[in-house]
Amino acid sequence: MTAQLIDGKLIAQKVRDEVAAEVAKCTAAGKPQPVLATVLVGDRPDSAAYVASKGKACQELGMGSVSEHLPADATQEQVETLVKKLNASKQISGILVQLPMPAHIDEERVLSLINIEKDVDGFSPINIGRLAQKGRQPLFVPCTPYGCIYLLEQAGVRIEGANAVVLGRSNIVGMPAALLLISRNATVTVCHSRTRDLPAVIRQADILIAAIGRTEMVRGDWIKPGAAVIDVGINSVPDATKKSGHRLVGDVNFEEAKEVAGFITPVPGGVGPMTIAMLMKNTLRAAQIQNP
Ligand code: NAP
Repeated sequence: MTAQLIDGKLIAQKVRDEVAAEVAKCTAAGKPQPVLATVLVGDRPDSAAYVASKGKACQELGMGSVSEHLPADATQEQVETLVKKLNASKQISGILVQLPMPAHIDEERVLSLINIEKDVDGFSPINIGRLAQKGRQPLFVPCTPYGCIYLLEQAGVRIEGANAVVLGRSNIVGMPAALLLISRNATVTVCHSRTRDLPAVIRQADILIAAIGRTEMVRGDWIKPGAAVIDVGINSVPDATKKSGHRLVGDVNFEEAKEVAGFITPVPGGVGPMTIAMLMKNTLRAAQIQNP
C-alpha cells in the first residue's frame, strides 16, 4: 500500500473529545447544556437508527437530546408545527430533521422553516446560500462535507490551488463539498451522471471526493498518482464470511486505489464517523451562538 490511510475514526474521536471538553467548560460556567432535537417522520429503520445514534452521541458528550417522532402519515402542517415549536423552545439549541421524509412531505419547505441559528445540519437555503457567496459565512456547514474537508486538513493535504474533483452533486454532500473546496481556493470540477469520460476528468484530480452511491465504481487507474481520495460512499455488498451476510464498501475500489493514491479514507471508518462528530460540533456552536 502506497497511500497514507486517513483514519476517520481516530480523527472523529478527537473532535468528539474536544466538543465534550468544551461542553463541560460551558456548563461549569453556568451556561445551559446544548440540546439537539431530532425529528423523525415515519418508520424507516435506517433513519430510526441514525436518529438513535445521534441521541447517543449527545449523551456521550454531555449534551442533551430530544427525540420527536411523528407517524408516516403525519401531515405537512403537523411537521411544520413541530419545527416551529422547536424553533421557539429556549431549551433546544439545534434541530435536525432526519431525511428522507415520506414522499408527501415537502422537505424543502420544512428545512427552510428551521431557525438559521438552530440549523445544525446546515441545509437551510440561507446557510447554503451564504456558503455559495463570496465574503459571506454560513452559521453551519453540512456535516458530511464539513467532515470531508476536516479530514483533508487533518491529513495535511494542501487544498489551496489544488485541482479537486467532486463526484456527485447532491444537496447534502456533493454540492456543499464543492462550495467548501472553492472557499478554500481549490479549482473544482463537479461530476455527475451526465459527465462525459469520467475517468479522464478524475485523472486530473489532486483531490477526489466521491459521493455517488455506486459500489467501487472509481477504479485504481482513474486516480492520479499521489492524489488524496475521500470516499463518502456507503454501499452494502453480499459477503458470506460476515455474520450479517454483507459488508460495507465505498464508491472507490479501495484495494486498487490505495496502491496509487497519496492519501485515502477507508469505508467503513473514514467519512462515516466524521458526520456525527461534526453534527456534535455544530450543536455546540449553536448553543454558543444562542448563549454567548
Ligand atoms: P444522491 O443524492 O443519490 O446523489 C448521487 C449523486 O451521484 C448525483 O449527483 C448523481 O448524479 C451522481 N451519480 C450517480 N450515479 C452516477 C454515475 N454512474 N456516474 C456519475 N455520477 C453519478 O447521493 P448522496 O446522498 O449524495 O450520497 C452519496 C453516497 O454517499 C451514498 O453512498 C450515501 O450512502 C453516502 N453518504 C454517506 C454519508 C456519510 O456519513 N458517510 C452521508 C451522506 C451520504 P445526478 O445528479 O446527475 O443524478
